[in-house]
Amino acid sequence: MKSRLRTLRPLFMVAALIAALIAPASAAGSTVKEVALTFDDGDNERHIRQAVAVAVSTQTPITFFPTGKSLRKFPNLWKAIGDAGIPIANHTVTHPNLKTRYAAKGAAGVRSELQGFINLARSLNIPVVPYWRPPGGAWNADVLRVAKSLGLTLTMWTNTFADTAPMCATNKKTGKRYLTPTWGSFFNATRTYSAGTSWWSKTSGGTQVNVLGHVNPYTAQTVKLLAAVIADYDARGFEFVTVPEMATNTPNNIDWAKAALAVSAPAKAGGARVPTSLPTPINPLDKTYTFAQANGITITCR
Ligand SMILES: [Zn+2]
Repeated sequence: MKSRLRTLRPLFMVAALIAALIAPASAAGSTVKEVALTFDDGDNERHIRQAVAVAVSTQTPITFFPTGKSLRKFPNLWKAIGDAGIPIANHTVTHPNLKTRYAAKGAAGVRSELQGFINLARSLNIPVVPYWRPPGGAWNADVLRVAKSLGLTLTMWTNTFADTAPMCATNKKTGKRYLTPTWGSFFNATRTYSAGTSWWSKTSGGTQVNVLGHVNPYTAQTVKLLAAVIADYDARGFEFVTVPEMATNTPNNIDWAKAALAVSAPAKAGGARVPTSLPTPINPLDKTYTFAQANGITITCR
């Protein structure tokens, strides 16, 4: 299904070129719809593996923004993922709020986090791409200046997997069901944004979408919903791209055979392979899950 879209892409480009030649005044912007699925943090090994497994099973390009802490914990796994051509971008070493960090420690405090990530990746032989995403989305002109001086391009998001929203949980003592606290605002991962509402500078008219998800202990629903999110974007004619591909229009070359091996790569060099199966998909309309809430369905915990 993905290869069909990829094959069609040059045709889109030729069509766009012809359109530009015929009517240059009205040919502003591309009509190709692109979506970049991105996964942050990397606090949970199993969910990292499962995100790659779903990507491999559907041949869907994805992009990771792990912390340096995660690179340190699972160096061989990240190396295998990066060597397969799945982009690994900068999410700092320790995940601080960089606005606060700048206020407290100045440019050097921000630089040590971003350059620290680059140095760490280099020392662990993990290939990384020059894109960064600020933890918690917190950045300002000062922070941006530091990142730019290191050759890093800011990458925000337009939509989320809603994995920072409330979920139903069970109180271990009382056995009662309750709603976990909201971590932040959330949006439907299958919704496209119109121009002007996006934080992603290249987004225009909702044709370039960047979806934020996490591979953390509390985000099992993200990998379980991934296949449904992919199917939804595919049905709406979106082409799946990595962040570097969306930013530069340079095709990414993910080696899917290598990516398939990366799914079970030992976490540390010399370690044992980790058998990993695809996550059990969940119905995106199941009221138990946050994805449903993002669709405007009221959640009831019983
Ligand atoms: Zn994060």
